[in-house]
Parts: sequence; structure tokens; C-alpha cells
Amino acid sequence: MEIYLDANATTPVLAEARTAALAAMAEDYGNPSSVHGTGLKARALMDAVRAQARRAIGAADGQVLFVSGATEGIQTAVLSAMTALRERSASGAGAAATVLYGATEHKAVPEAIRHWNHLLRLGQQVLEIPVDHRGRHDLDWLRAHAPGAGLVCTMAVNNETGVISDLPGIAQALRGSRAFWMVDGVQALGKLDLRLHELAVDYATFSGHKLYAPKGIGLLYVRQGAPVTPLLAGGGQEDALRSGTENMPGIAALGAVLSALASGQVFQPAHTLVHYRERLAQALRDAFPDIVFNAPTDVSVPTTLNFSVPGLSSRLLLDLFDAAEIRVSGGSACSAAKAQPSHVLEAMGLPAWQAAAAVRLSFGPATPAEVIEAACERIRACGESVRANCLGASPAGDGPVPRLTRFVADAACSYVVADPAGGRCVVVDPRPELNESLMQWIRCRGLELAAVLATHARSEVASAAAALRAALAPAWSATEALGWPVGVESIALGDQCLTRLPGLPRDAAAYVLRDERQRCWAFVGDMAPAATSDRGARAERDAAAAALQALHASVGGGGALLLPADDPDERFASTLADGFGPALAQPPAAADAGEAVDPVALSPSAVAALLETRSDLVLVDVREPYEQRLGQTLEIGGGARRWAIPLSGLVEALPDLLALPAQTPVLVFCRSGNRSARAAAALRRLGRLRAYSVSGGLALWPAAASAVQRPSQAALPTPAA
Ligand code: PLP
Repeated sequence: MEIYLDANATTPVLAEARTAALAAMAEDYGNPSSVHGTGLKARALMDAVRAQARRAIGAADGQVLFVSGATEGIQTAVLSAMTALRERSASGAGAAATVLYGATEHKAVPEAIRHWNHLLRLGQQVLEIPVDHRGRHDLDWLRAHAPGAGLVCTMAVNNETGVISDLPGIAQALRGSRAFWMVDGVQALGKLDLRLHELAVDYATFSGHKLYAPKGIGLLYVRQGAPVTPLLAGGGQEDALRSGTENMPGIAALGAVLSALASGQVFQPAHTLVHYRERLAQALRDAFPDIVFNAPTDVSVPTTLNFSVPGLSSRLLLDLFDAAEIRVSGGSACSAAKAQPSHVLEAMGLPAWQAAAAVRLSFGPATPAEVIEAACERIRACGESVRANCLGASPAGDGPVPRLTRFVADAACSYVVADPAGGRCVVVDPRPELNESLMQWIRCRGLELAAVLATHARSEVASAAAALRAALAPAWSATEALGWPVGVESIALGDQCLTRLPGLPRDAAAYVLRDERQRCWAFVGDMAPAATSDRGARAERDAAAAALQALHASVGGGGALLLPADDPDERFASTLADGFGPALAQPPAAADAGEAVDPVALSPSAVAALLETRSDLVLVDVREPYEQRLGQTLEIGGGARRWAIPLSGLVEALPDLLALPAQTPVLVFCRSGNRSARAAAALRRLGRLRAYSVSGGLALWPAAASAVQRPSQAALPTPAA
């Protein structure tokens, strides 16, 4: 069962609100502008909800308008204030030169300011109000800038951290200024005792869907006498300040939520929410002992926890939580798709890693205690999975040691070849940005470092190799320039064996890895096809091509898979057929020869069809072991084989995947469809035309009846038939 802890992004709709919305659609469906009985009933409902809204936000007078959500409210407020500023300036009443907004505002605010400043050709200088390390506005700065300001925008509660702004302090700082003041109250509704009329706030905006109402309904409060320029002109609804027939199902639902809020029966009281936060924070501390919380709890609403864990990226944590079916978000929801550091945490002056690795966990005030307890249990399971799989600062893992692992940061690749039984490993092409993960991986698995090899004399590889050697003291201390042990012919790693590819220039090396099944990989560094075209490297590539062709001739089956030191196109591996100069051109792969193939990413219905029609289907789960351990697996019938091949271990499994009969479909899946699409595309490039990925990943799997099972999949692919 899914546990939804992303309430600051949106909330489910309260049962009472759903009932009210349905009634407003089915029975009381009138248009509040109609003067007949049906319309009058709708108007009465609308007036009642408006009165409830006034009470909820402490707006005894002024306007409370129904709008589509906070973004619309923000547009209207900014447009209204800026239009008034333009009029002030035109009438010679003095032009204010600046618009100020808090450095941690939701994007909707600065974007609206820039948009209207541009469209109205206002030319206002737009400045960010700095915040302190607790995320609170610098009131001295604000006081100093208030006299020149025309509009000031400050949020009531931050959506990423839950930090509560000091609205009375801001009001004080603005005293005497002619600036209009807009408050984004989205994350405060239902969580803070808002008394807008006491604060000289000119505009305040709210979104219903952040408090159990549906999307598409929001509120804009306008202080008595503050100017309004309608964003929408038309039928004259909302006193002609916001035209368009009102969203009555949304208004009815919002009314039900506001009733629930006023009754004190549905939402948990503040002390219970504080207790929930403490339970969750403790579970997080148990799971990730070196966790840091990114916002001070004494000035935050209790429903938001923002944290970072050293050594664990927010992407990794999201994958981990999602595998445990806990929905959280990285930074803010709007930027979750792009892994960018949080501008909120940056503005607070937090270290770069903290701002980049932040995760936000937020719950709604109607969350039942059992859900919090279940979440705590799953969070602890996430911690166990992290420890077992040697992530972060885990001291010792208990998971199986893979024999060939690829580490990647941006496009830079490093590899570890390990002998699980003998407890030894070799690193190929270490990189400074990957060194910490490499060291942690090796130490936590208790492996001895036999050697650190480089394919080229590149300074960043050399410095990373030196750091690894210094930290882990490899068994062979006497080595040649690129790390090969002096006087050693081959390095045996259990059933695997590493040798040097003969015939290369002095400053380059390639290493050949063969296993007991005569599968063969070659670490070729920059000599991978299409890696470089400069002249010096060209000669090197020609030498490498000749050497690799000799290797190719000595390896049966598909030859060696060439593993690069940089992989900007996410090929994972290439083959000689990928073009090593004209002399070595091979017949094009079938994909290039024009054979019609299906799209890589399959829709849920296409996936269902494949499952039904192809009993020879191979399902490949490319999620990492720390996700697979938490075990969202699929309830699917049929005889499909299932292979667990984490993306980090894809290169090891490629020979088996490529050796499957040509017609065998391979369906790759992961959490969101992103990693599986990359893996399937790589398989296609390598000639496996019937490789597909599940678009949307596990979330959109047709038989989404996912069961939580402890690892039931084969740990490694079985040898191809
Ligand atoms: N302001 C804040 C603080 C928010 O959290 C959000 C939504 O995330 C918005 C504004 C925009 O709200 P909506 O997308 O509902 O218009």
C-alpha cells in the first residue's frame, strides 16, 4: 500500500469534500448567476463558503475571490499592484523603483513579477529579500529597502522547509512604506492561525488542493481599498473582479474542507502533528544516523521535514523511498524532474551538498496515526537496505558482491572488477568525483584492493588512482605508469582474469576481462569508437583498432564488449561493429539496415499485449539492489523469465542479454521508466532489436497490483539458452 508523504505538493480530496463536489455536480448544479431557484441555491452555497473562507483566513472585510488556485491569485495580485504603481507614476504621485520578494518564494511569485514587469513595461528593479540560515527574512534589509519599494511579496510558510515567516515582523518593517504587500498563504492554510486583517496585508493567495480540496479552486484575499485589475474580464462574476462561471464543485468541496477545519474533528491538533513529526524524525535518524535536518523545527510548521543524508543523493533517496512505496519529493515538486539544488536551501546558505541532496517529507493534518507508524517502519527498512547495500557511510554490507560494476558521474565511468569469493577487486579508471563512492563500496564489502588501473595518462584519473592507493593500500605496490603490477602477466580474480591488450602505444592501455564462460569485456578508455577524432588520438585509435581486431578474432561468439572511460551517449558498451575506422567497418546492425522495429518505450496497453502473447519474454528489472530489496515486484502471470540486473551491473549482464535468440523480447523496467529506457536504448544500439522499456515504469504497469515481496527474483541472469 502506498504511503503518501508529499502533502506540500498536493493532498488527496477529503471524503466530505468529494461528497460535496458530487452534489454540486449532480443535484445542486446551478449557475450562481442564474436568478431562478437552481441558481439561487448555488449562490447561497457560494456565499456560505465565502463566509467560511473569511473566518479561516481572518479576513473580516475586504474581498475574498474564488480563483483557480494560488498561481492565478498571485498573477492577479501582482498585476493589480503593478498596474496601480504604473498609474501612480503616470499621475506624478511618485514612482517606486523596486519590487521585493523573499529569496525562498515559490517560483510562481518571481516569475509573475518578471512577467508583468515586462508586459506592463514597468522597468521596476526586482530584488530578492535575503533570508537568514533559518530561512527567515532579513528584516533589517527589508526595513532599509521598504521606503523605495512598490510591491513586497513574502510567503507565510515555505513549501520546501515548512519555515514560518515572521509576518508581524515584516508588517513592522513595512510600516510607513507605500508598498503593496502580497502574502503567499498556500502552505499556511489550515496550519496557522491567519489573521490577515490585523496585518495590513494587501493580497493573500491560497490553493484548495494543498488542504484536501480538489485542484482548480483557490482564494484571493484583497484588503479593503487595495486596487484590483481583473486578470479575466467577461461575464462580471465575482463583482467583475474575476469573470467566468464559478467552479461550483470546487467551491463546494472547499466549503466541506473549511467546515472540517472549523469543526476541529477531522484535522489533528498541532500537538499531535508535532508528535508525528518527532516519530518520523526519529525513524529517519534510526535509518540514516548521519542525517541532517535542513530547517529549524521551532519556527516551522510540524507537517514538513526537509533533510539530507551525506553520501546519498536525493535521486537515490527518492528511488529508495519509492521502492518502499513511500512518496516523498526531492527539493520542491516543481523541480523534482530536474535534479537541481534547492534555491530555498541555497538562499539559507546551506552547504552545496545539502541543497543538492535534499528530500522533503510532508504530511497533511488529516493523516491518521497508523499511516505515520507504518511510514516509520518502512523508513527503518529503507535504512536497513542502505546499510546492506553499502550506501552512504554504512560500515559493512551483507548483500552479494557483483563481479563487474560500473560507477558513473555525469559521463565519467569507473569500473570495479571483483572476486566475491576471494575478497579482492581491481579498479579501472577511477575518477575524483567517483572516488568516495568507490572507496565506500570497496571498504564496506570488506574487499582487498589488488590494483588500480588506468587506460590513459590523464591527470584526473592519475590523481584519483593515487588517492585510492593511498587510502586502500593495494596489494601490488610496484606498478608501471598506468598501474599494471610490475612483472605480472595476468590478474586472476576468482573465475575472472584480467590481461593487458598487447600492441598499444606506451601511454595508453586497454585491459581484457574474461570469465569462466569465456565472456569477454575490454576496458578501452578513450579508444572506444567515436570517442575522439583529434590527430594524435587517431593514431592511437588505429593501433587500438588493430589490437582489438586481434582480440576479436581470438574471442568466440560476439567478441568483446568495449567499455569506455566516458559515456556521454549512454551506450554502456560498444562493439567493433560500432565503427573503428573504415578498415574495420562491419556490416551495419539490423537496426541501421532499416528493419522496422517497435518504439523502445511501450505504453501500458502494449506491455499488456506483450505479456499476453510472448511466453518467451524476458523481464529485466534494472533497479538497484537497494530498491529491489524493498521489493515492489509485479503480480504478473505467464511464463516470463525475470532477471534482476541493476543498471550499475548492466555491463556484466550484456553478453547474456545479447546472446538471447533474436526474436526473444526483452522488457526492461524500473521505477519511473527513465533508467529502463536508457538500458533498452543501449540494448537496441548493440543489436538487440526486441528490447523495450515500460513507459512510466512500475507506477504505470498495467497489472499495477504490486505486491510487497522480499527478494524473489533471480539475483543474476541465468546463462542464456
Ligand atoms: N505557492 C506555494 C508556496 C506553493 O507551495 C505552491 C504550490 O506548490 C504555489 C504557490 C502554486 O500553487 P498552485 O500550483 O496550486 O497554483
